[in-house]
Amino acid sequence: METYIWKPKEPKNIAFVKAVNTWIHLIQVTDNPFIQRCLYKWIDTNNLKIINMDYGNYPTIRLMDFMDDRILCKFISQIIMDILPPCKQTKDKNKILHLLSKACPKRCQIRNLKEIVFQYASTDNETYQFLLEVMKKSIFGAYDHAKVLLCFEARHVFYVMFQFQMQNKDFFLKWFQNNNHQIFIFFCLKEYLCDAIAQVKTVNDFIEEKWNWSIFHEQVVHSMDSTRRILNTIAKREYNLLHKSDWISSAESFLSQISKQHIKLFRTTPSNSYLSKLETMLNKYLITENAPLAINKEISHFFLSVMQRTRDPKVIFQSLLAAGISTDTVHAMYRETFSQTDFRMMEYKDLFIMKEFCRLYELIKHTAIFVLPQHLYKKQKEALINKEQCTANHNHNIGYICFVCKDVKFFLTKFSNSSRHSNKLARGSLRVVVDNDESIFETKKLNFVCGRKPERHVKNSKRKWNDDKKAVSRKIFKEKQRNRLSRQCIATPLQEIDLLGHALQFNNKMMVLCTSCANVCMLDASSYNYSTTLNCQVCFLGKHEKCIKCENVTSCNKVLVFNRKKTRMHQAPMCSSCSGVYALKQPIII
Ligand SMILES: [Zn+2]
Ligand SMILES: [Zn+2]
Ligand SMILES: [Zn+2]
Ligand SMILES: [Zn+2]
Ligand SMILES: [Zn+2]
Repeated sequence: METYIWKPKEPKNIAFVKAVNTWIHLIQVTDNPFIQRCLYKWIDTNNLKIINMDYGNYPTIRLMDFMDDRILCKFISQIIMDILPPCKQTKDKNKILHLLSKACPKRCQIRNLKEIVFQYASTDNETYQFLLEVMKKSIFGAYDHAKVLLCFEARHVFYVMFQFQMQNKDFFLKWFQNNNHQIFIFFCLKEYLCDAIAQVKTVNDFIEEKWNWSIFHEQVVHSMDSTRRILNTIAKREYNLLHKSDWISSAESFLSQISKQHIKLFRTTPSNSYLSKLETMLNKYLITENAPLAINKEISHFFLSVMQRTRDPKVIFQSLLAAGISTDTVHAMYRETFSQTDFRMMEYKDLFIMKEFCRLYELIKHTAIFVLPQHLYKKQKEALINKEQCTANHNHNIGYICFVCKDVKFFLTKFSNSSRHSNKLARGSLRVVVDNDESIFETKKLNFVCGRKPERHVKNSKRKWNDDKKAVSRKIFKEKQRNRLSRQCIATPLQEIDLLGHALQFNNKMMVLCTSCANVCMLDASSYNYSTTLNCQVCFLGKHEKCIKCENVTSCNKVLVFNRKKTRMHQAPMCSSCSGVYALKQPIII
């Protein structure tokens, strides 16, 4: 009895006290971490009994898991798409995923964590529950990677804290707010992220190879083990004291030291390739030099046809030689050493050719067409016929993109709160003009070209009388740049794209036809939110149903009806005019 660690004041069940202390003893004497872990888990399962005894009650037979993994498992699958790069920061991101993305080793992200945690936890119960579970996991060392487990003394104190105090959201918010616990939560989120990634080996291997993930993983696991070690020390010291200090605060000064050695693995801004940087520099140089625009369609066509036939960069760079660029220059470009200082030695004509080469090479690298599986093709075709009310072969599926300014001529249906209704009903193409150059009378077919500039309202470039000199020259430069671009746009026929049965990857977007309304939409993870076949989401919002009374297919309300055939009440769709008529004749009988 004297050697017992757990000594409840009025032990109503001696056998249970003996059992718990035996488990604690076994943990202390064994050096097998697996057995230690199992025994701790078993004690955790008995946490309610232990607490009950402390309060002088008989231990109830309730065995309950101390931790709830369900909410933690829920987000593992979304980490790849929504947290690891190259994910996009979107405003309508799930709150928990947003918090987790803060814990990612990017730029320093703890700055506004306090406000975000407080705001999310107070408005969203799921976030609050998630934070509690993540804290339990970290404090107790429940992750597989944890080398230091929390000792019984500390566990005992935290059982009470989590089962009573933390169950009250207001208490949690006050605890968090008053004691600045954001650094602790920050590390708990990091540890969760490390564990989640370690669970999927392929992801772990990939990000290890690409970004040296283990640097981050080691730092987090090591600091959390140290945190648990600190908690253990304090727990052993203060276990029998009546007044206990805020243990987590004591560990936090250590954590804030650690977080000063900030690890930044992922870039927050996408890196530009050498060729795209070179293109920008060449463009700037040619504009400031006022070089006359030299568009050589034949050479561009030649470059493109080489690039379409091979992926070998050596062969592709050789095509520059054929276009009359010197061997030294081509080698320097290939070795990525050709730079701004070399521009002066070159003729404008050659610089134009090199700029065109850079543009086309980048374009071909980032543009692709993917063939969709048969079942999606069939659904798209059906939807297209339905949308156009036409079965003839009228190229309803054809759209255009401009390879010069990268303008997409499709009406993209976007799912957002400010959803553009017009795009949902729009037909045809945006900003496309017919080339009325006289030379087209020789070729039999009309050319569609990009008409982006003539239609655009040049809001940003409008010069104001009070602009300073710098602003004026900057705006003149921008105007020139746009003018040149549009002159090249006009001179280049648009690219015809058939989206039926295809997905187009272009300018960092993936575009497909919606399988239920045949509008063009972006393909991403949320494309499956409403259905198992990809869709634009917009057409699922005002989904039409068949009215139970007049059988019109329109947007309906759900009303309670009495069904005589089934002899029971249930909900059924009813159009607005019918609901008006039958509103007074309730109950509605069908
Ligand atoms: Zn038609
Ligand atoms: Zn264009
Ligand atoms: Zn206008
Ligand atoms: Zn749709
Ligand atoms: Zn009706």
